[in-house]
Amino acid sequence: MTLLFLDGRWQPAGGRATREILSPHDGRVVAEVAEATAEDAVVAITAARRAFDTGTWRHTPAPERARAIAAIGQLVAEHREDLAHLETLDTGKPIAESRVDMDDIAAVFAYFAGLAGNEAGRVVAAPSPGVVSRVQREPVGVCSLITPWNYPLLQAAWKLAPALAAGNTVVLKPSELTPLTTHRLVELIDTQLDLPPGVLNLVLGAGPVVGEPLTTHPDVDLVSFTGGVATGSAIMAKAAATIKRVALELGGKNPNLVFADVDLDLAADHALTAAYLHAGQVCSAGSRLLVDASIHDDLVERIVARLPEITLGDGFVEGVRCGPLISPEHRAKVEGYIAGAIDDGASLVAGGRRPDDPSLAHGTYLLPTLFTDVDPSMTIVREEVFGPVLTVEAFRTEAEAVALANDTVYGLAGAVWTNDAGRAERVAGALRCGTVWINDFHPYFPQAEWGGFKRSGIGRELGIAGYDEYTELKHVHHTLRPAVSGWLPTG
Ligand code: NDP
Repeated sequence: MTLLFLDGRWQPAGGRATREILSPHDGRVVAEVAEATAEDAVVAITAARRAFDTGTWRHTPAPERARAIAAIGQLVAEHREDLAHLETLDTGKPIAESRVDMDDIAAVFAYFAGLAGNEAGRVVAAPSPGVVSRVQREPVGVCSLITPWNYPLLQAAWKLAPALAAGNTVVLKPSELTPLTTHRLVELIDTQLDLPPGVLNLVLGAGPVVGEPLTTHPDVDLVSFTGGVATGSAIMAKAAATIKRVALELGGKNPNLVFADVDLDLAADHALTAAYLHAGQVCSAGSRLLVDASIHDDLVERIVARLPEITLGDGFVEGVRCGPLISPEHRAKVEGYIAGAIDDGASLVAGGRRPDDPSLAHGTYLLPTLFTDVDPSMTIVREEVFGPVLTVEAFRTEAEAVALANDTVYGLAGAVWTNDAGRAERVAGALRCGTVWINDFHPYFPQAEWGGFKRSGIGRELGIAGYDEYTELKHVHHTLRPAVSGWLPTG
């Protein structure tokens, strides 16, 4: 059974409770893990506080911390197959995608190791002679890192690598649905590296239970969370009482704009990847396709013609393109959105139901689904479905395309397809979101910041800003030859 990692020791949960981890592919139990109590989370927070306040980690020279972070990346690379296997077991995603995730994770650790190794403050021009003034970055303190189930280890890496690289201590909480890879990584770090006790703590348990102390305890300085808007908003409110720093990555309703001058087969190919990769359970999924009216029917036809190529099934089987949704509850939620769209008058062009294949009957599968005749007032166009559901809207002018694209409370990502460079740049500039792809969809890499405008979140992950998120700025003003202040009369 998997245990909690508290203050450098593997321990069962205080209440001795456990949780069964189920395969979304067939519902079988794939692991039994410790189910932490709120008290376990407090133990983790207390250990992290002590390790930060009186331990050595934050005083460890940055190049040495950088070597440890780089070593974690190497561990991921060395154990790629094992970790990818666990990720597919937990999430149901195709093994090829899990392998790509592991490569990305290794790159994320390598990138943040590089940033930490080059960490330097800056000397600022002082207003008077005899003063040396510098601004330096220091770790924030104890960080709660709360991660979701769609990219479990990748999301953990986006937080863990910069947090540790900057000298913080952390309590890591993966989703209760998908804890296996995060647990394995902590095990690898524990056995292969020499991190001081309390620097890295792992708590497994239900979000609302262990999440409470992780977001309210006065000893926590920063909460970094990826997940849904409702949970993110609740976390922000809780963190406000003790003025914790918050970093939130909350998903999106991402527009994919296609103008009439593009290669339609290419645009269709990317529209499929944008919407249906990982069954649409991607925060940056291109779930709203906005198409020039003159090519609308043609593009929809090309997309629908290729839907049968999205082979659903067991992620361990070669050639499978798409796994199940994460849980029966989540599938029911997505099915509710589909039923609602039909009630609202949207035209169901494809999917909208579970697959007929009896070998998938025990899994939480859903066919790739496509709606046309939608309008911006419909729930299916407004809310994040987080499933394999694409809606298609037509526009007549560039201004209308931009207005439709921005007509959302979200602002994570978006794409524009056109061969007109001027239009591409105009539209990219007009879209209100944190990432814009021109003639592409989905690529990201550690050097470029990732995060949302509007309700898609606060702060950035990856890139220099993704490192800075885990630091405080300190100005050190050093007067070399102290003299009287001049405020009081001198006798
Ligand atoms: P949540 O936002 O509820 O969960 C994300 C993480 O937060 C998980 O680790 C969860 O733990 C934890 N959590 C849940 N409640 C609390 C709490 N009160 N305090 C602290 N942590 C908490 O996502 P769901 O799994 O419920 O999915 C809901 C919706 O969120 C999805 O339908 C989708 O729209 C969106 N989502 C967006 C993601 C993104 O990448 N931006 C990723 C996942 C979901 P646990 O799982 O153990 O409950």
